[in-house]
Amino acid sequence: MHKAIALYSGGLDSLLSILIIKSQGFDVIALRFLTGFVSPLKKRDIIYAKKFGFEISEIDIRKKFIKILKNPKYGYGKNLNPCIDCKILMLKEAKEKLFEFNASFIITGEVLSQRPMSQKKEFLTLIEKEANLQGLILRPLSAKLLPPTKPEVEGIINRDFLYDIWGRTRKPQLALAKKFGIETIPQPAGGCLLTDPSFCKKVNDLIKHNQLTIENIEMLKIGRHFRISEKCKAIVGRDEKENEILLNKYKGTFIYPADRKGPVIFLVGDFSQEEIYTAAKICAYYSKRNNLEVIIRVNEEEIRKIFDAISKDRIVKYRI
Ligand code: SF4
Repeated sequence: MHKAIALYSGGLDSLLSILIIKSQGFDVIALRFLTGFVSPLKKRDIIYAKKFGFEISEIDIRKKFIKILKNPKYGYGKNLNPCIDCKILMLKEAKEKLFEFNASFIITGEVLSQRPMSQKKEFLTLIEKEANLQGLILRPLSAKLLPPTKPEVEGIINRDFLYDIWGRTRKPQLALAKKFGIETIPQPAGGCLLTDPSFCKKVNDLIKHNQLTIENIEMLKIGRHFRISEKCKAIVGRDEKENEILLNKYKGTFIYPADRKGPVIFLVGDFSQEEIYTAAKICAYYSKRNNLEVIIRVNEEEIRKIFDAISKDRIVKYRI
C-alpha cells in the first residue's frame, strides 16, 4: 500500500486532509511537531487516529524551533509566530520521515489564502522550495487551485477527488467533516501560543533577556510573570492548583503567606535580598493584605518576615 506523511496540528483542516488521502487508499503517518508552543497530542487525537485508522506520533523540535524563533529568516506573523520558517522546519523534518517510512509524499491541511501570509500561493511555493520538496507537498483541501503535485502527475492520487477550498470560510470544511463522520469538530488549526498577544509579551521578555530556553518557555505556561530586574523574574501562582505545581515542580526560592491564604511565588534567575523582598510585597498584594507574615523558603531553609503590599504602580511596572 502507498504511504503518505501528514503534518498534523490537531486541527480540523489537518484531520480532513488525512481522511481525504486515506479515502484514496493510502496509509497515513501523522506527525505532530512539538515546538514548545503547541500542546502535545490529546486524548481526542488518539481517539481520531484509532477511529479513522492512521498512525500518529510526536516529534520534539523544540531546540531547533527556539533558534528560528530568535531570528526567523522570513520574520514574524501578526504576533511572534514565525510561520514560514516554522513550516519549512517541519517539512524538512517530515522529509527525513519520507525515507524512514518509505512514503511517497507529504500532506498538509493548508488552505489557500486562509491565513494572511504563510498560506498565500507564493509562500506555499517558497516554503516548498526552501524545504527542497518541490512537487512532493500535497494540500488536499486546496489542491485543485494549485499546480498538480508529483503523486497526481504519476496517477497514484486522483486529482478529481481533491478539493478547491480557499479563504477563511469554514463551511466547506464543516460539510466535509460531516461527510467523514467527525462528530466533535476540532479548531481549524491546533492552537499555537505564539499567536496569543499576551503570551507573546512573556516570550519577548525572554528573548530580550537572552533567556529563551526550553525550561523557561515551559514556565511561561503557569502563573503571572513579573520582571523584577534584568536577571530576576517572579512567577506568581494564580490559584491553588498553580501554587501546588510551582512548589512540586521546581526547586529554589519560594515566597508564600505563612497561613497559605494567598499565592506561592517562585523566583527565577539571580536575585538580591532586596529583590526577594520585592517579591514578598507582591505576595502581600495578591493576598490582599498589609502586615502579612510570609515564609521565604530557600531550598529547605525558611525565614518568616512581615511585609506590606507593593503599590499598584509598581505591580504594573514589573508585570510582563
Ligand atoms: S501558528 Fe505556530 S505552529 Fe503554526 S506554523 Fe505558525 S509558528 Fe508554526
